[in-house]
Amino acid sequence: MHKLERLIADFPLIGKMMGKEEVLWMNPHLADAAGGIRSSGLTEADVREASERLKRFAPFFAEVFPETKTTEGLIESPLTEIPNMKQMLIDEAGIDLGGTLLIKQDNALPVSGSIKARGGFHEVLKHAEVLAREHGLIQERQDYRQFTEQPFTELFASRKIAVGSTGNLGLSIGILSAALGFEVTVHMSADAKRWKKELLRSKGVTVIEYEDDYSKAVAEGRREAEMDPMCHFVDDENSRELFLGYAVAGERIAAQFEEQGIVIDETHPLFVYLPCGVGGGPGGVAFGLKLAYGDAVHCYFAEPVNAPCMLLGMMTELHDKISVQEIGLDNKTAADGLAVGRPSGFVGTVMKPLLDGIYTVNDRTLFGLLRMLADTESIQAEPSALAGMMGAIHTVSSGVRFAESEHARHLVWSTGGGMVPETVMEAYYEEGGNVELFPGKSTK
Ligand SMILES: *Cc1c(COP(=O)(O)O)cnc(C)c1O
Repeated sequence: MHKLERLIADFPLIGKMMGKEEVLWMNPHLADAAGGIRSSGLTEADVREASERLKRFAPFFAEVFPETKTTEGLIESPLTEIPNMKQMLIDEAGIDLGGTLLIKQDNALPVSGSIKARGGFHEVLKHAEVLAREHGLIQERQDYRQFTEQPFTELFASRKIAVGSTGNLGLSIGILSAALGFEVTVHMSADAKRWKKELLRSKGVTVIEYEDDYSKAVAEGRREAEMDPMCHFVDDENSRELFLGYAVAGERIAAQFEEQGIVIDETHPLFVYLPCGVGGGPGGVAFGLKLAYGDAVHCYFAEPVNAPCMLLGMMTELHDKISVQEIGLDNKTAADGLAVGRPSGFVGTVMKPLLDGIYTVNDRTLFGLLRMLADTESIQAEPSALAGMMGAIHTVSSGVRFAESEHARHLVWSTGGGMVPETVMEAYYEEGGNVELFPGKSTK
């Protein structure tokens, strides 16, 4: 335990966090992008290597997952403007969002319907590739469709993959590992949704449930895997391979911006709002964006008021040495992808000079925004995925430099929802029905 009074004295924002207020923290350690990247221990070459790997496996995906045929086996999602949502936010919040509002629809990523398809798939593919090479089954220049063939599936059937997850990481690791022939176990927290567990079991994945939260599921998974030399544990709290897989998003979105003729530079800055759980997803994407755009991109993380673990860890610089439970929060949130009480220390450290800030959102806000996005743009995302939608309101209303500029591009990273069953999505939509998002603010 850390002396709570002492922490509150040093970081008064903790008082508001304990009261479950929505807050914005600006990172005082933000530095220039080049220096921040240099001090991270990760390089552009590492990300390029991950990107090349995903390309090598593209023919495999196109064959095994027909929905990826149109993108020739690359797992990618649309980048679109959302002008109707922007107007609705302006009307409701009474704030002028001068620039462009865009959404990156990772909720529509093929195969697993969430941002986890980026990092999760990369880690499984790297593991499969390393094993196949060790056994002399493949070389880089060969056709990776061979991974569907017997010597490969036979090798993988003798190996195990395990992961601890609140849900979506389990889905992405489970679906791909099972498709490659691995024996997969997903350790899930109590707050993981039932339909996710059922879906995984239907694919032949072993699901083990825990009463406790996500950190416990990860710890148990790690412990079991460590006792088995044939088992690879996907460590969501510390994985470099997950991080690098997420980071490939930077070059991908840069290509999309270019294709659409949207310039990003110092006078047309990009503000990106990323929902954050343990940190690997948003951290990796932010890292990739910094590689692509340097100081012209400003990254913010978004967390639930009940689970602001990265905010607490980065602000106090205690990183994974502190949990939200220690400031009296219960880590309970409908945003199950973000229900994490203790952040990744690895990601918090890498992000220290690279992240502009973090803000929190309450669950009702998420449901209200979910409904608004469905109504205005016909985009269906899960509650976690809406956390980024308040970002522009925060930066503009707090007077963040250039945020109110008509040249600013505000990008909301919509992180999941593609696999949510229709009845569950309808219930989410209903839940958003009676939410007054900006009490007393509407200009209508
Ligand atoms: C996992 C997840 C996140 C956050 O990713 P982390 O790596 O846990 O920070 C955000 N949104 C959704 C929908 C997710 O599944």
